[in-house]
Amino acid sequence: MERIDDQPTVLLIDDSPEILRLLEVRLRNEDFALVTAQAAVDGLRIARERRPALILLDLDMPVMDGFEALRHLKEDPRTVSIPVIVISGSDDTDDKVAGFDLGAIDYVCKPFNMPELRARVRSALKIHELMRMLEQRAQIDGLTGLWNRAYFDERLVEEIAHHQRHGRPFSLVLADLDHFKSLNDTHGHPAGDAVLQGFARLLESSVRAQDVACRYGGEEFVILLRDTKAEQARALVERVRAGLEALRWPRHPERRVTGSFGICDAPAGDAGSPAAWLQSADDALYQAKRAGRNRVVIFDPAATNDAADTQPAPVRKAG
Ligand code: GH3
Ligand code: MG
Ligand code: MG
Repeated sequence: MERIDDQPTVLLIDDSPEILRLLEVRLRNEDFALVTAQAAVDGLRIARERRPALILLDLDMPVMDGFEALRHLKEDPRTVSIPVIVISGSDDTDDKVAGFDLGAIDYVCKPFNMPELRARVRSALKIHELMRMLEQRAQIDGLTGLWNRAYFDERLVEEIAHHQRHGRPFSLVLADLDHFKSLNDTHGHPAGDAVLQGFARLLESSVRAQDVACRYGGEEFVILLRDTKAEQARALVERVRAGLEALRWPRHPERRVTGSFGICDAPAGDAGSPAAWLQSADDALYQAKRAGRNRVVIFDPAATNDAADTQPAPVRKAG
């Protein structure tokens, strides 16, 4: 599972150097890291890049004022969910209403009452943390505890962008348990569920911290192996394949469970498209199934042409 920073970041955007310095000193001993920006444009950039847990935003600033900055923050999907506390020299009701209407969660007037400001910041951070936990729970598969498909789809988009920007390799692995319907039919749905859970634990213990293992749906799983070419991925996936085959199941000790695996580190078609990556990994998985299951196949873009339908490409056997 992904690690979340222990100490949250709070971003302070204010054009006054005195205010920046004052709050830097007064908030020094709090349980967060304070980052400052003296202009709204800089603040917006930092917000996009660092995704702070909270933003303290001054209203009265030259060039771009706080209202406009708030509008930008709430229009950008990367920053829309960051809570914003408006800090302002104005006690004007219209300003307060406008700030809340634009999406601020709180409004604090200058000069600050420091204990009050600290308490409001702590309270906003607590709410942010609860929201983050709820969000995370919505991204976890209930049966296996792995990440779910919604989370995976987001991470795949990010990984492809990273791959294209920096030329770092990654491998996409699709796994599908073999003859799972028959296992359910013979031993019952709870036995099937136990197998899904056991396989998830095997996956979790096999991948590195930077990798992402998800239940994609039903008895299909997907793994994103960062900085890994297909041939290196094969070694890890082969260990998973052999590990699954070796497991004994209390509900059906006489029946082994196997899985088939497709790996892709370069898809056919548009390498910027998540669908192309998934399709190519799925093609490799399909070949693994067709060649007899319980094996690992690496997708070969060169073998994908019209002839592939009538004349199957040679399937590389596991091991
Ligand atoms: P193949 O080797 O070709 O993959 O065959 P298969 O039987 O594994 O594939 P198929 O897609 O025909 O069947 C998948 C089965 O997975 C059917 C469905 O009932 C079962 N399944 C899906 N989700 C769950 C679940 O959460 N729990 C259990 N126990 N079974 C599930
Ligand atoms: Mg399936
Ligand atoms: Mg299956």
